[in-house]
Amino acid sequence: MKIPDNGKSKEEVLAALRDYRSADPDWSEGRIFGYVFHAEDDAVAAVEDAFRLYMWDNALDPSVFGSLLRLETEIVSMAAHHLRGDDEVVGNFSSGGTESVMLAVKTARDWARANKPGISRPQMILPITAHPAFHKAAHYFDVDAVTVPVDRKTLQVTPETVQDACTDDTILLVGSATCFAFGVSDPIPELGRIALDRGVLLHVDGCIGGFMLALYRKLGRPVPEYDFTVPGVTSISMDLHKYAFAAKGASVVLYKNKELRKHQIFTHSNWTGYTMINPTIQSTKSGGPMAGAWAALHYIGDDGYLDIARQLADITDQFIAGVDRIDDLHIMGKPEICLVAFGSDTIDVFELCDEMKVRGWHLGAQPGAMGVKESVHLTMLPFNAGQIDALLGDLGECVELVRGREPSPLVAQLAAMAQNLDPSKLDDATLQNVLGMVGAGGGKLPTRLAEINRIMNALPAPVVDAILTAFYNEWNRPEKE
Ligand SMILES: *Cc1c(COP(=O)(O)O)cnc(C)c1O
Repeated sequence: MKIPDNGKSKEEVLAALRDYRSADPDWSEGRIFGYVFHAEDDAVAAVEDAFRLYMWDNALDPSVFGSLLRLETEIVSMAAHHLRGDDEVVGNFSSGGTESVMLAVKTARDWARANKPGISRPQMILPITAHPAFHKAAHYFDVDAVTVPVDRKTLQVTPETVQDACTDDTILLVGSATCFAFGVSDPIPELGRIALDRGVLLHVDGCIGGFMLALYRKLGRPVPEYDFTVPGVTSISMDLHKYAFAAKGASVVLYKNKELRKHQIFTHSNWTGYTMINPTIQSTKSGGPMAGAWAALHYIGDDGYLDIARQLADITDQFIAGVDRIDDLHIMGKPEICLVAFGSDTIDVFELCDEMKVRGWHLGAQPGAMGVKESVHLTMLPFNAGQIDALLGDLGECVELVRGREPSPLVAQLAAMAQNLDPSKLDDATLQNVLGMVGAGGGKLPTRLAEINRIMNALPAPVVDAILTAFYNEWNRPEKE
């Protein structure tokens, strides 16, 4: 494709985009669990108008657009209150959970460089349930990720496991509140004690759960301690584009005090252009996401958020009760908020996902790792509310459909073959060959994914990662003309 010789009308351009989009799932039907955090229409309209109002303003330089600094400090202040922080808490608005997490890891690294000069290879301890954003941070910032298992039943890391994994090079502990996969929190108070004992930092990943847990507490539901009131917690990430229903590109990373936050800030004056003060990874950035988030918090308000939380808690209870009635399925761990996953000891849950997809349901297949078995994840959202009975009905029927289905012999063959592969030596031809065997050759994704999920679950993780990279590199390429 090339830029058209002559510009088109706005109607033509938008008609083409609507046409592109028509094949994507219509999330408003409520059959997708996750991805689109969408509140009721009036709130959405307020967010959109606020976003549009600020969309061309540049948050690169708050000395020019002063109201953007005001919006950011007010959002951070509301977030800090929500997480029961004191007046010392500072933070920044970022583009999403990944950026917030990456900033927290970068800050920890530079804090350690300043305060623990003896450490040459800094380490952070990550439960297997920690979000991949931490591994991405490890990869980008050269901090070693030490992955530790979680308890197979509770799916929480145990304090002993973390304690045993600590070395003299440990700079940062990580706990989730809640983790994405199962909606359970790690024992933050115990991790805080270890952090204080060892003089290291503790980041709480509240990207998805941090906002909702505080609402659940206000509803009188039992929630664990996870916020700034816990001794030892030094930073928390919390996404606003998830359960605060802001438009995408909205998260915060908060620090216990500005002594810590100073290690996040990058400045550069020794060049020939403008003075650069970058607290976050992005430099030029739209004011839209920030204004949208500010608008969501003000429009919906605590009372509105509590109504949403109550509704989501109810439909989650309804779903859990329904799964409990299906003999072949069980809920993973004890979900603390409106994130749930179920597994099975008797049927293939990846086949189940494929059958549900045929019926229009988008559920999240999750591979297993380090003793935790594969599962299916649902992030509950307001638009799912009217769909839970239908969902449970189809689940029950699809369980019967897939009963007795055996994984294809290819899974065992590939798994055996992969045991002897050195992932760093996999050449492109071999990778393309493997992709062809699983029906994903030439950058085409098959509609049924059970076999691919099974294979990914059976192969060593570094081999899977090499295959995924090769697949993506093929998949995301301009069409040849
Ligand atoms: C979503 C999520 C992230 C990453 O956030 P993005 O906004 O997708 O970048 C990090 N941690 C947890 C627990 C999450 O659920």
